[in-house]
Amino acid sequence: MALPRSTTVLIVGAGPTGLASTLSLVHHGFKDFVIVDAVVKGDNSSRAIVVHSATLETLDVIGCGDELVSKGTKATKMKFGTRTVELAHIQFDALEPYTRHPYALIIPQTFTEHVLGEKLASLGVTVHRPHKAMGVKVNADDANLADVVFEDGQTITTRYIIAADGARSTIRTVAGIAFVDPKSDHGDDPTTLEQAALADVTFDRPDLDESDFRGIMCPNNFSLCAPLPFTFNEYLAKETHEHIEGRIYRMVWGIPLEEGAVPHSPSKEYMQTLIEKFGPRDLSADPKVNPTGKAVCLKDIVWYSRFRTHSAIADTFFTRLSSGDSSDVRGPAILLVGDAAHIHSPAGGQGMNLGIRDAVFLGEVLVKHIKATESMPLSEADYILAKFAAERTCPCA
Ligand SMILES: Cc1cc2nc3c(=O)[nH]c(=O)nc-3n(C[C@H](O)[C@H](O)[C@H](O)COP(=O)(O)OP(=O)(O)OC[C@H]3O[C@@H](n4cnc5c(N)ncnc54)[C@H](O)[C@@H]3O)c2cc1C
Repeated sequence: MALPRSTTVLIVGAGPTGLASTLSLVHHGFKDFVIVDAVVKGDNSSRAIVVHSATLETLDVIGCGDELVSKGTKATKMKFGTRTVELAHIQFDALEPYTRHPYALIIPQTFTEHVLGEKLASLGVTVHRPHKAMGVKVNADDANLADVVFEDGQTITTRYIIAADGARSTIRTVAGIAFVDPKSDHGDDPTTLEQAALADVTFDRPDLDESDFRGIMCPNNFSLCAPLPFTFNEYLAKETHEHIEGRIYRMVWGIPLEEGAVPHSPSKEYMQTLIEKFGPRDLSADPKVNPTGKAVCLKDIVWYSRFRTHSAIADTFFTRLSSGDSSDVRGPAILLVGDAAHIHSPAGGQGMNLGIRDAVFLGEVLVKHIKATESMPLSEADYILAKFAAERTCPCA
């Protein structure tokens, strides 16, 4: 399909941060944009399962908070303990005086992206797919514009590029922005979670009544167990024709390096072993270990992923492609959001959350900048984008 030839803002990537940036532009009354994505359909994998209060407040701004809350489970506490002893409850409801969302919302990322995508579609915005951005160069006639070239040879000319194209961002690479791990010297710290396995699974006991969000600590390791909302079963049946009986649980296991590499496609037996080693005892398949005296076995593996811990942050979240030497010729603006700007260990549950917050904030800031350029030179107006970049790089600055 033919792409528009030009626009003011080009959003590259329609993951959660590209969608949220676009919704934020619309919310602030700005419509001269184009959003593109390299793939035919959004990613249908579960990934992030927790949306934090601050992110829900941000989603309220773009009109998506309530819809998401209606689909997820509100976890008002998280239990922490060892395999045998419960040690602490983190009470999210203690946030009640400070937020209208005093809980952690448990909802798979697939669903979050679906809600953002539906909202955008309801506002009449189309994501142009599949269009993979391959390169960017300064426009020959106007050095403040960029020509973004796509795989199929089409070009879009634009003033601003929002790089929401994920951890391997083409836009960030073309702009020459370094992306490094600020703690690359962590070496052999035994407390570092080097690798982990994640899975959405069901168990063979329909009477299993495990509705708590739990963290289980073992020496130098941890695991998590979170019950996913039944709306996820309905979503899977509708969108992927997978009919999953019973509650789906997200399990996360840190895998100590001495256990060997995590298999690419693990068997049920491998995962059952992880539960027996690192998981809560009340999910044990051994009735002698399980405090209920009954065995609980894994039934379905709905989704699985493994990862090696890797963190990185871009040197800057705002740059101009080529600096001109006058106050009004400075080169096209590039702004990084989400994984293009920073990646985290999934263990902290922050990647998507921070990305959505970057994105909603950027929509407001960009509209402010566009208005400011009507009455002041670019060199002055750019303080708005530089401030955005500084605040998102280090929110405590
Ligand atoms: C296994 C796993 C578990 C995770 N768990 C959590 C968690 O618990 N909590 C949490 O907050 N986060 C978690 N994350 C991180 C979260 O998934 C990411 O932070 C989030 O997806 C980032 O969103 P994004 O929109 O920035 O990038 P992405 O989701 O990567 O989206 C980028 C989009 O850009 C498109 N694109 C890429 N290149 C181009 C191009 N050249 N041209 C056009 N389009 C392009 C892609 O097709 C894609 O749609 C997890 C991630 C993984 C992998």
